[in-house]
Amino acid sequence: MTRRKGKTKPIAANQPDSLKPDTKIQVVQPPLTYGNPGLFRYERPDAAPDCGNIFLKLKEEIQDPIDFLIAAVQQADLVMIGAGLNLSKAAFARDKFSDDQSFWAEMYQDFIGMYELPDLKTGSHSIYYSLEEFWGFWSKLIRLGRFTDFYSSIYHELLDLIRDKEYFVVTSNFDHLFERNGFDEKRVFNKEGDLGKLQCQHPCCTKTYDSQPFILQMCQNQKDRKVPYEMIPRCLYCGRELVPSIHLSERFTHDADWEDGHFRMNQTAEYARHHNTLYLELGVNDSKPGQIKFPIWKETEINPRSFLITINDKQSAIPDTINERALCIEADLIDVFAALKEKRMNSVKPSCGNE
Ligand SMILES: [Zn+2]
Repeated sequence: MTRRKGKTKPIAANQPDSLKPDTKIQVVQPPLTYGNPGLFRYERPDAAPDCGNIFLKLKEEIQDPIDFLIAAVQQADLVMIGAGLNLSKAAFARDKFSDDQSFWAEMYQDFIGMYELPDLKTGSHSIYYSLEEFWGFWSKLIRLGRFTDFYSSIYHELLDLIRDKEYFVVTSNFDHLFERNGFDEKRVFNKEGDLGKLQCQHPCCTKTYDSQPFILQMCQNQKDRKVPYEMIPRCLYCGRELVPSIHLSERFTHDADWEDGHFRMNQTAEYARHHNTLYLELGVNDSKPGQIKFPIWKETEINPRSFLITINDKQSAIPDTINERALCIEADLIDVFAALKEKRMNSVKPSCGNE
């Protein structure tokens, strides 16, 4: 893999004296604006001074993984978060439902009796007899997962941890829990779509529709697992049915918001490659590694000043190329955030300098 080189331009011999090589020149990184000046609240004058990998120095000083996490966030120029399904599962388990199965049995008793579905995941990947049933299942799921008020203590603790830092989130979750719990929407990229949107099932175009009015109406009017046929949402352009705009198949479309988020992610990734960047991978499983996991490994490898911390109940292997610059915390995310909350009051503040 090629490493990116710094952006310092060579100084030509015929340049005026003020630009001769012995002149002190400040190398300034281009400002990160996303086409939206003021997005980053803190002015950073230039690339951070190169004092080696500051995270490795911290790791030598701090043995406790939670203390190290807190200190690494404090020292980082940028925290890049990659979040997967287990983060949302932990949030729902901690504050909403004590366990997945009791929720599933209570909410979807009618579907379980009809189709012998063992769990929610199987239910969401199943094919139903009719469109009316399809929407009977999905409207319940979307209302509950996307449109109910949900204060998640885990997401708030995460936000408290990084609130004063520059950060960016890339998530494969469809539930908008980051934005619903106070994260800046301009710093979140919902890579795999959003249950708050519908799209043409074909799709004939990239337009998406706010799903909330359709979902609420379908939930209020469903009976025997089905919604009324006339309430099934349809594309304004071709008349085909609308479906949730999430990446369950190759028909997932990229609307203007998705393209904007993708652009901001790429801009941040470029910034990250020239700074002391902490990559934080939260609850990402191995099922679709190309979405979050592999890009984070690649970015960590590119930047020798970066560090990767992963937190998940079951860890995947880390490639040899970044093994030294990675810490895997294998634990339930609920326990990790509980420990984090307790320790943050007395967080460690070592420096990267030569004291
Ligand atoms: Zn259409």
